[in-house]
Amino acid sequence: MFAEQTRVYAIPMRTRFRGITVREGLLLRGDAGWGEFCPFADYSDAESVPWLASAREAAEHGWPEPVRDRVPVNVTIPVVAPERAAEIAAGSGCATAKVKVADPGVDLADDIERVAAVRDAMGPSARLRVDANTAWDVETAVRAIGELDRAAGGLEYVEQPCRTIEELAAVRRRVDVPIAADESIRRAEDPMRVAVAGAADIAVLKVAPLGGVRRALAVAEACGLPCVVSSALETSVGLAAGLALAAALPTLDYACGLGTLSLLTTDAVARPLRPIDGWLPVSRTAPAPDALHEADDDTRDRWLSRLGRVAAISGRRPADI
Ligand SMILES: [Mg+2]
Repeated sequence: MFAEQTRVYAIPMRTRFRGITVREGLLLRGDAGWGEFCPFADYSDAESVPWLASAREAAEHGWPEPVRDRVPVNVTIPVVAPERAAEIAAGSGCATAKVKVADPGVDLADDIERVAAVRDAMGPSARLRVDANTAWDVETAVRAIGELDRAAGGLEYVEQPCRTIEELAAVRRRVDVPIAADESIRRAEDPMRVAVAGAADIAVLKVAPLGGVRRALAVAEACGLPCVVSSALETSVGLAAGLALAAALPTLDYACGLGTLSLLTTDAVARPLRPIDGWLPVSRTAPAPDALHEADDDTRDRWLSRLGRVAAISGRRPADI
């Protein structure tokens, strides 16, 4: 019975993204529908507990009432050649682009070219943000942000330029470009620390690591920062939870990072949550995985055992999920 309520997937990525070439996860079904449990490989069982809470919220309870029926999303530009970056940006239909920068072994000059190519492709009214994924120290960040801001003709914000909250605060004091915290917000208490430290202007919220839509809404309210909702590279099943959060936030001033399906080669559902002209329609429940290609037995066993361990820490046996 338990096995019938779960599906395990292993979907190749289109482009290597943050070191990942194949995205894996587990979908589980409850009375309210489907939820997605897909902590990255480097998450411990204890760190995966909120991810399971988020999947269970979707599967067992569904989500709070939305206050909007569609959500603006950004196109994400991986670390690719400028020509390819321009192509992705121009073909996206989005009014906002997030450009990945500061990958290991990639020069700032390449990042500048990529950002400039995206601006050329999208025109002067587009919003451009960059994401450094903790790569810089304070001095490098201040210099790089200045140069990228010039190349972009103005950046909307820079996401997680440095690793620590103290470094973010130091950079924020020295640059005019707003700072968004992403990696610094892994747990529910982190956004408050970020806000109190004056480390960021914007909080990037991801539903799964925060433990579900309701939990993330409470976090948004408590930290008092404008929020951007971002995915954790889920299939459409998990993306729907991010969309539910973005749809329920009282205010939403920024495009969200929920247009990430294009980074996967396939999806679990027949009608994927792909943005149209930069917008995603809000759905009340996650779509069913009606087009899922099941992973091989080894992958499936690995995920079922992970689910079992995390459920045990969560105080629930797998059969109860
Ligand atoms: Mg980020």
